[in-house]
Amino acid sequence: MSDQQGELHSADGAMTRARRDLVVGGVLIAALVVLALSGWRFIGFAERLLGHGSNAQLAAGDRLLLSGLLLNLALILFGWRRYRDLAAATTQHDLAAARAMTLARIDELTGFLNRRAMASDGEALITQARRQGKAIALLIIDLDHFKAVNEVHGHLAGDTVLRAATDIIRRALPASAVAGRLDGDEFAALLPFDPRHAGAIDSIADYIVSALAQPLIARGVTAHIGASIGIARSDEDCQTVEALLRRANIAMQAAKGSGRGRHAWFDTSMERELISRNLIEAGLREGIPIGQFVPYYEPQVDLETNALLGFEVLARWEHPTRGVIAPDNFIPVAEECGLISELSIAVMRRAFVEARDWAPTLSLSVNISPAQLRDPWLAQKIVKLLVETGFPANRLEIEITESSLFQNLPLAQSIVGSLKNQGIRLALDDFGTGYSSLAHLRALPFDRIKIDRSFVTSINKDPESAAIVNAISKLGESLNLPITAEGIEDGDIRDRLRDMGCHKGQGWHFGKPMTVTATRRMLAERGLLPSARGSAAPVDEIRSARRTG
Ligand code: C2E
Ligand code: MG
Ligand code: MG
Repeated sequence: MSDQQGELHSADGAMTRARRDLVVGGVLIAALVVLALSGWRFIGFAERLLGHGSNAQLAAGDRLLLSGLLLNLALILFGWRRYRDLAAATTQHDLAAARAMTLARIDELTGFLNRRAMASDGEALITQARRQGKAIALLIIDLDHFKAVNEVHGHLAGDTVLRAATDIIRRALPASAVAGRLDGDEFAALLPFDPRHAGAIDSIADYIVSALAQPLIARGVTAHIGASIGIARSDEDCQTVEALLRRANIAMQAAKGSGRGRHAWFDTSMERELISRNLIEAGLREGIPIGQFVPYYEPQVDLETNALLGFEVLARWEHPTRGVIAPDNFIPVAEECGLISELSIAVMRRAFVEARDWAPTLSLSVNISPAQLRDPWLAQKIVKLLVETGFPANRLEIEITESSLFQNLPLAQSIVGSLKNQGIRLALDDFGTGYSSLAHLRALPFDRIKIDRSFVTSINKDPESAAIVNAISKLGESLNLPITAEGIEDGDIRDRLRDMGCHKGQGWHFGKPMTVTATRRMLAERGLLPSARGSAAPVDEIRSARRTG
């Protein structure tokens, strides 16, 4: 029931009650008036009755008077009882109406205000704060890993965790705050504060973040959640709850983006970032189906012989006005907005069509993001692509990073198992940057380790980098896992790597990622294109790859 409906309902009830009170009141008053008007007659009648004795015969007029008296008393009694009933019903009705009003404002699970009530109370708080020369800070508190609690332990445990989180937030807030639950695992609080002392708000936010970082015990389950908080302030030209919510939400996303478990105040650069992120998302949605995302090819060579072994496929966005855009700008957005699979399939399809008539010794390495390894259909999608494009599975290598192994290892293992059964090889990319754990090397049947370019490019300048590259080479040797080094920018780096026992590499020394046209030119020069089809790019199929991508 909305507030307005509640008000109408109670106004209606009040009218009905007033009508009933009028009728009952009328009956009572009439009875009392009759009693009062005929009071002197009753006195005379009583005297006569007492004078005659109780058994005496009464005159006809007195009998009439006696009947009138009894009727009057009955009416008074009836009126009184009716009044009591109505009073009880009215109290019940008022209680029910008050309860309905409360329910319409309160989030039943946590007892906090709901979004609408928080907004209306918040507006009042802003007005009041303005009058008192204060500002309002609006905090959006988003639980970091709450979804996992629901998924792993069930919704009852999830509800208990939400209540426990609510208690922590409530304890942290001053009595003057207005707090509410916005949605699922998202809370908001408006706090009046002295704009010269915003540190007070930082302390409250810090307290909430650190308290929610502690394990929460709910229904026998220990949940590790954590929280990210975004804060917006009303004295920065932001005077409505809606505007504050919008800014606090942008700040909260920024807090999450910079590692979660922290708080961030809104600033205008965040808004610019959000706008550019939204533009990229729109560009992905529009550009993937029309083939704006294309594979570029970076040569991979044998460090002993300089022979070309294949290419790493690296996505590029050929933007109609902004030119060629590097993947670091759009891959993270594609991952966030669930478009990574569509993007990856489109780029792979095109690469398979373009590369299938290259020399059969040349392999393609494609990058698969962690989000894709959570898709149970990934292996089927890739195998279907290979069949449709006619690209041989044994020329394909999949590159994944260690972070792919955390979220759902059994699923990743099953996907990789299906791919390997088809003859596809598996490489561990960017080794040395993340956890670089030996356990991860054993978690999946890797065929190759790729040393991250940050160590390779500095191998001749930084002894630590050289030591790391050396250690990884030895590790590969003893585990019988060949190594690929990326980031070989000059001949000295190549020589050093070769001396360390690394046999395969890529980097600007051998060639930057290039378009299909440049790649075919390079292949033609080296006699690695079948001469009959050497110059004919499979245009029709590429077009169709764009459409179905
Ligand atoms: P990566 O897989 O580690 O790719 C190697 C990156 O190193 C590429 O950057 C490449 O251009 C760069 N690189 C290679 N040699 C050198 C060198 O000698 N010096 C320097 N400074 N850099 C070199 P790029 O193309 O910008 O790709 C960046 C990352 O984007 C890739 O890192 C990969 O993780 C990701 N990525 C690219 N394409 C795709 C894709 O289709 N799908 C997914 N999921 N990720 C992709
Ligand atoms: Mg890679
Ligand atoms: Mg890499």
